[in-house]
Amino acid sequence: MSEDNDAQRAPGLTVAGTPPEQERYTTGDEVSGEFRCDECDLLIKSPRENDGILVLPICTLCGSERWRRVG
Ligand SMILES: [Zn+2]
Repeated sequence: MSEDNDAQRAPGLTVAGTPPEQERYTTGDEVSGEFRCDECDLLIKSPRENDGILVLPICTLCGSERWRRVG
């Protein structure tokens, strides 16, 4: 006989201020996958070698340091 009383509910707290829509990254972040420049939409992909790790560069087109994950 075991009563699992899960009465430990969070009292109506919701985490605000972190919308999970798009992940933002900046130059120097180690990432994998495909990313687009936040300014000009230049697409870059992580390489297959080097464990697929890409260190985000400064955008070669517009010089922006902000990227967002795509796909
Ligand atoms: Zn750009």
